[in-house]
Amino acid sequence: MALSPMMTNYLKTKEQYKDAILFYRLGDFYEMFFDDAIMVSKELEITLTGRDCGLEERAPMCGIPFHAASTYIDKLIAKGHKVAICEQLSDPQSSKGLVERGVIQVVTPGTVTSGSNLDERKNNFLACIYMSKNGTGVCFCDITTGETYLANFSKESTFKELDDALLRMQPSEIICNAEMLANASKLAVVASHITPTFNAYQENAFSSQTAEKSAKNHFGVVSLSVFGIKEQDPGKHALGALLAYLNETQKRTLSNINRVQLLSNTKYMHLDASTRRNLEITETMNNHKKKGSILHLLDHTKTSMGARKLRMFVSQPLADGVEINNRLCGVEEFVNNNIMRENVAETLAKIYDIERLSGKIAYGSISPKECLSLSSSLKKLPILKQYLDIANAQILKECYNNIIDLSELANQIDEAIAEDAPALLKDGGYIKPGYNAELDELRNAGDNGRAWIANYEATERERTGIKTLKIGFNKVFGYYIEITKLYSDQIPLTYIRKQTTVNAERYISPELKEIEEKILGSSERALKLENELYLELKKSMLSYIDVLQKVADSISIIDTLYSFAVASIKNNYVKPIINDDIKKINIVDGRHPVVESLLSGAEFVPNDTLLDEKENRTMVITGPNMAGKSTYMRQVAVISLMAQMGCFVPAKHAELAVVDKIFTRIGASDDLAFGQSTFMVEMTEVANIINNATENSLLILDEVGRGTSTYDGLSIAWAVMEYLATNIKAKTLFATHYHELCDLEGKCEGVKNYRVLIKEFNGQVIFLHKIARGSANRSFGIEVASLANLPKDLIERAKEILKEQERKGMVVASQTQTEEPKYGTTANINEVINILKEMDMNTISPIMAFGTLQNLVDKVKK
Ligand code: ATP
Repeated sequence: MALSPMMTNYLKTKEQYKDAILFYRLGDFYEMFFDDAIMVSKELEITLTGRDCGLEERAPMCGIPFHAASTYIDKLIAKGHKVAICEQLSDPQSSKGLVERGVIQVVTPGTVTSGSNLDERKNNFLACIYMSKNGTGVCFCDITTGETYLANFSKESTFKELDDALLRMQPSEIICNAEMLANASKLAVVASHITPTFNAYQENAFSSQTAEKSAKNHFGVVSLSVFGIKEQDPGKHALGALLAYLNETQKRTLSNINRVQLLSNTKYMHLDASTRRNLEITETMNNHKKKGSILHLLDHTKTSMGARKLRMFVSQPLADGVEINNRLCGVEEFVNNNIMRENVAETLAKIYDIERLSGKIAYGSISPKECLSLSSSLKKLPILKQYLDIANAQILKECYNNIIDLSELANQIDEAIAEDAPALLKDGGYIKPGYNAELDELRNAGDNGRAWIANYEATERERTGIKTLKIGFNKVFGYYIEITKLYSDQIPLTYIRKQTTVNAERYISPELKEIEEKILGSSERALKLENELYLELKKSMLSYIDVLQKVADSISIIDTLYSFAVASIKNNYVKPIINDDIKKINIVDGRHPVVESLLSGAEFVPNDTLLDEKENRTMVITGPNMAGKSTYMRQVAVISLMAQMGCFVPAKHAELAVVDKIFTRIGASDDLAFGQSTFMVEMTEVANIINNATENSLLILDEVGRGTSTYDGLSIAWAVMEYLATNIKAKTLFATHYHELCDLEGKCEGVKNYRVLIKEFNGQVIFLHKIARGSANRSFGIEVASLANLPKDLIERAKEILKEQERKGMVVASQTQTEEPKYGTTANINEVINILKEMDMNTISPIMAFGTLQNLVDKVKK
């Protein structure tokens, strides 16, 4: 038995799209066969049937109605699949034999241009990575906006830089060459499953010649140096392969991808995955929601373009003082000028997503309604400019200059498209009356038809002299001329007889046929003509893509700066003083922006921070659980981050050094799920910090060493802190319950002790959330535990055990925290006497005795 011709064709097509699910158009359905059908029926929970395919067994098959395809495609894409859409290319009715079919597009997660997988407030990047002996290149492209970015990494820094870039850009699809695929597991983002799977793309596409040719052809340039890309850059290979992949999958012109922006590796602050997670920059740690993140707090944008730009600004804080100030000045102007801010906001709110609309122009998929959205947006540009006219900040002036008047395009659209254009093209009616005379005539044909016929009837009666000449209509012949048999001898020669009835003969004439065609074919032709006119309009819009993108970029920047300004006013933030010459972090009355926003009713207690290059490099922070240590440390990091995004900061005053990297080691990490123990994760993170931090970095270390036995943990924490303070000299905040670490002050340059103040009242702890110089004496763990609703007996028992331990000298006896603790003063003699008094020489072991003795000697020496 042999396969049927249709199935042979199916398999031939499928062979070319092995890694995609083939949607094969058969009439009103897209059908899937064999393995695709089995998998899709499971994924989408649709019925699996079978179809005769010429072989003995029926081919497994499932299908979906073509008009509902987009929902199914969206679901498959969301699950990480690719879908190749194979359409009927010839009309089934007029084609003899097999209908011609071909794949018109492959939809992949990184190349969707519509549907539910596309978040309008977020870029959708496809990443292509090329790794070689000489370094690595990565190219990111959002085909909906045309944004294309390229970065080159040296061999030495590849993994770190690549991790960083992938975290910032969050691509939804990654393709790469074989070398990269083989090394992918060395990336932290891959190890912790943050990025989508890496897929190898044809090796040939990455070769120097092919890649260069593909890129040059695409951009129509003779040399890629116009984009600053050098001959030997690994990024060139990534760019060329990415464009080849787009060509292969999209099968249409990608004219909105018209320039490449180089990403400098030093331009942005370095933030690793755990720091991004810990500081909840774009999503919360617990439920991965935007709400509760810094992004959410700062997002007051009025346009989708602005929302996407804001996300970019927030995800990649700058590391260059001049650029940071440039943004800050823009925000300041919006903060200070209420009228300008409100006017601009009102105008922005009326502007549609010009950036993605220009993408749709490039792909020819813009609808008449969307054209109207574009034109109404373009008409707002002069108004926006008028409001920005008074702006002095450099960044706003630049945006102002880039927003050029596009009323010519708006007029062109308005002249052509009807105000009430329907959403669907198929019924026509979207081209404005008066735009094209022929179209108007065709549209009028239906209405005018009766008059034409009456007119023709009258003329023919007159011409032939036949008084009874009548024009009628039936379904078989259409319009006809009826003449009673009486006048048979007066019939003009041009009449053609069609039918004979009892009393009359029926004829047609060329003129009558012409009128008939005009009437009957008019609506069909009107539709066709409308379509042609629309194609013409779309074609002429293509030349505007470049300027539309520039305009969109400026609007998105304005919207982002506006959004920062609104957040700053609403939450009472100040402009930080930040530049490359400032080497300290001096914050007066700093606050944690998110915690502050969540405290309903209660007041957030502001705190100061001083970190510099000399005596104040490391803050050792002690204090009870729940006192606010983590919040305080995060707040310092978040203030730095926000400032470097270009936003004002939650403080009364802030002078900030530009930080090159922020590292955090806080709490448990998601890596636990991937087979590492808590302690191992902690130590790996600490090693990462030690190996990568510089003196310009900001480090947040929360309870390092707590994952192992007390003495090991203490020793590790001690050594880490010494190493950071002495060797790396980074600005460090170090929270600990090991109060012994406070001994480092005075011994290790740059270390200063801080504690979080509390009040004890009737055996209860009251948190003051205030940071002060000095060290806390104990953790109040039991008191805090009692707040967590543990059984009373258990708490009492814990207190007893603690007393016992203190009595035996194994732990330092608890003291009430004093407002101003004294350092290095004489030990409390009474305390020594008490310990000696409590000692039971009959039960104490030699080791305990030694420990107690050591404790006493330390106390006396102090
Ligand atoms: P642990 O040692 O148990 O981790 P911690 O000292 O790190 O505790 P945080 O988690 O920072 O404590 O803070 C506990 C809670 O105290 C926060 O959830 C917040 O609600 C509140 N809090 C922290 N800092 C402040 C502040 N400055 N003003 C008001 N409330 C605060």
